[in-house]
Amino acid sequence: MISRPFEYFTPKTLGEALAIMKRFGDEAKLLAGGQSLVPMMNLGLVAPRYIIDINKVRGLSGIRETSRALIIGAIVRHHEIASSETVRRIIPMLSEAASHIGDMHVRHRGTIGGSVCHADPAADYLPVLQVADAVFEVRDTRRKRLVKAREFFKDAFTTALKDGEVLTTVQIPKRNGWSSAYEKLEFVAGGFAVASAAVMVKLNERSEIENLMVGIGGVERRPVFLDLTPGFAGRSVGRDVAEEVEASVTSRVRDPISDIQADGEYRKAMAGVLARRAFQRCLG
Ligand code: FAD
Repeated sequence: MISRPFEYFTPKTLGEALAIMKRFGDEAKLLAGGQSLVPMMNLGLVAPRYIIDINKVRGLSGIRETSRALIIGAIVRHHEIASSETVRRIIPMLSEAASHIGDMHVRHRGTIGGSVCHADPAADYLPVLQVADAVFEVRDTRRKRLVKAREFFKDAFTTALKDGEVLTTVQIPKRNGWSSAYEKLEFVAGGFAVASAAVMVKLNERSEIENLMVGIGGVERRPVFLDLTPGFAGRSVGRDVAEEVEASVTSRVRDPISDIQADGEYRKAMAGVLARRAFQRCLG
């Protein structure tokens, strides 16, 4: 039950939304899909006096493609991402991650912008967006800036967003010749990740590794990004390489979370296993 009254705004433009945010400062909260904010309000963890619903703001929706990037509006739902042919063609691991989020209800309400700004360490998108080298466009009343996903997540539920800023788009560079895959371990259907791995690989014409990037979610307080290219470039792909990917990832998880779902050592081991599986699927 939401126990504290709040004032509710439905701006139609970004300028309006930003002006309301500026006026009320940290007493205001943006509402996108409400799949994290509303449960937190129900539990009494946050009690904003002003809610700014951005679902009607023009320019925050839609998935589009330019010659250089895939551009996803902040209020695009997980379901739209999971079912978009464009997303699947350009960055298959992103559609896989979206299709793993919660249940059908959550996927039809929750948004990519909300998930990124909430920064739950177990959120499916975070390792994927780091591996894909996504960039977030954020705006306040005065300016716009671009923040790399690899620099955005500062701690659990803590991002580089400053007061009064709204995330407007997620921009993913297009890359030729890469393959990608996402693997997730969840204990109940539709549950949050106990561990997850996103992998992107590029091979040369001799089937040797040219680039190898791995992202791990659900294991540390923020997503772990690993550029494994220096250790693996030039290697021919085979079973032994997949096992080395697993060992390399496991050894580079520094500070795994232990909680009621799983202890840290288990999460660390699973990070490696999931990275190996995703790596093998990339090759397949
Ligand atoms: P909201 O709840 O509306 O907002 C979340 C926070 O982000 C708020 O602080 C809000 O002010 C801020 N915010 C929202 N949009 C913006 C913006 N554009 N700019 C700046 N700040 C913004 N997630 C997973 O990844 N995997 C799962 O398996 C999973 N399972 C779930 C199961 C259940 C039952 C539920 C309820 C949720 C689950 N989620 C899961 C979380 C879900 O993905 C949420 O949709 C997501 O975390 C938040 O997105 P939202 O659009 O609902 O944001």
